[in-house]
Amino acid sequence: MAWDLDVYRRDAELFCEEIDRDYYLHLAGHKPGLEVEAIYERHAALFTREAVDRIGEARRGCEGVTRGCSARSNPFYEADPSDGDEEERRLRYLHQFALGGHLGARTRTLEARLAELEATLELEIEAETIPYRMAPVIQANEPDPERRAELESARNAVLDKRLNPLHREGLEAVHAACLELGWPSYLDAHSDVRALDLRALAGRLEEFARATDVEYAPTVDPELERTVGMPLAELRRSDLVRFFRAAHLDSLFPTDRMVGALRETLLGLGIDLEAQPNVVLDTEPRPTKSPRAFCSTPRVPDEVYLVLPPIGGREDYATLFHEAGHAEHYGSTDATLEFEFRHLGDNTVTESFAFLLEGLTASPEWLEKILGAEAEAAIEHARAARLVFLRRYSAKIAYEVELHGANADLEAMPDRYAELLGEGVGVEWPRETWLADVDSGFYVACYLRAWALEVEWRRELTERFGAAWFSSGEAGELLRSIWSQGQRLDAEDLLAETTGRSLDFMRLASDLTTAV
Ligand SMILES: [Zn+2]
Repeated sequence: MAWDLDVYRRDAELFCEEIDRDYYLHLAGHKPGLEVEAIYERHAALFTREAVDRIGEARRGCEGVTRGCSARSNPFYEADPSDGDEEERRLRYLHQFALGGHLGARTRTLEARLAELEATLELEIEAETIPYRMAPVIQANEPDPERRAELESARNAVLDKRLNPLHREGLEAVHAACLELGWPSYLDAHSDVRALDLRALAGRLEEFARATDVEYAPTVDPELERTVGMPLAELRRSDLVRFFRAAHLDSLFPTDRMVGALRETLLGLGIDLEAQPNVVLDTEPRPTKSPRAFCSTPRVPDEVYLVLPPIGGREDYATLFHEAGHAEHYGSTDATLEFEFRHLGDNTVTESFAFLLEGLTASPEWLEKILGAEAEAAIEHARAARLVFLRRYSAKIAYEVELHGANADLEAMPDRYAELLGEGVGVEWPRETWLADVDSGFYVACYLRAWALEVEWRRELTERFGAAWFSSGEAGELLRSIWSQGQRLDAEDLLAETTGRSLDFMRLASDLTTAV
């Protein structure tokens, strides 16, 4: 059968629907197993090498038309020039989708073996046996720093011995696939399909990290003292999960107020969760339901699920509001947009709105107004945690650019990983997680840009509607008008179109280091 772009688009949309619904039904506890394997098989044509090549060719053909100024001065070229931009964007998003799926298909068997192993491996500590996947949870709740260090080193030993050989095989497979597809490296492949210079982005984040160097320890030390009883200079990586956990803040976030707090917040923005037939709020407890809130989007905007666990605490509030940001963004997307703009695109955009709503749970005005809480402690902790996270991610992108670059020396990478992460976070960093710590497809770049983009949305909303913007119907209207565009534009273009500004990591640096 001849290769046809329109057929491809229809099949891709169907694939997204089937896969997202399957994940929803499984993770929400409606059914035990996943049918991912069968769904991929049915749609195998989406992720062949030919598909990636054909979309790449179409994209290059399209760029020629939009970039050449002759098209606009040519009196016989009657199409609206912006149509060319739209088509270029659609093909770019489709190219990224096809590449991601192709690389996923090459490693799916390995991923399944990894998941199976992770689910069955155990750590032996003294006389105790602990499931591998439970170790970080136990570590976050462990008050004794020596015991936390023991747990982490036992986990790292198992990771290195049992899982890293598979991780390494997977890395080599995706690197080889990018070369076969004609790119010089995995890094170049992703810079191309994202139309984003990832090397330059890593450079900008190095500047961000430098700009926060002086304020780093003074910002995090008081919070580290409060949560783990020691300053940055004495910290080990095994203490970080305990610091992020911040158990002392749980009492500020009552379990029975969690769903009500979300409803009330959205109502303040003019969004009635009950009256949104397309956003299904799934609060029912089921035995096999995921313990973390999540959002699933089989059909954007018509079928969006916001699933939450029946528990609470600070982290669950933050996760619920994060996922609600995704749900409202996708749920408000214009149904007439092309498939690529509803389901694909630059995930920086949806992550920025997830961070915006998540950030409310650490905003003084929100805490006071919605939870009636004296909030200083939560705000200070959130700022310190965000700074640690961002410095960690800034180091991560520098590392991933090296790891995935042409001719990377994989033998040298575990040391390089420990060096870069150790410098960035300011603690001695173990080498063993050099592969497990890497998300596929440079997702790290989405998170980093989303954090910077969130600062811009918050600034815009605060300037126009005040610090309590979350209780302004007009703020809600503005957000819904931006959300209606789905992911038609990438982060940079959407920000420029909405505010006339550009992403600025220095503004993010001052947002994190200057007390409000
Ligand atoms: Zn997210």
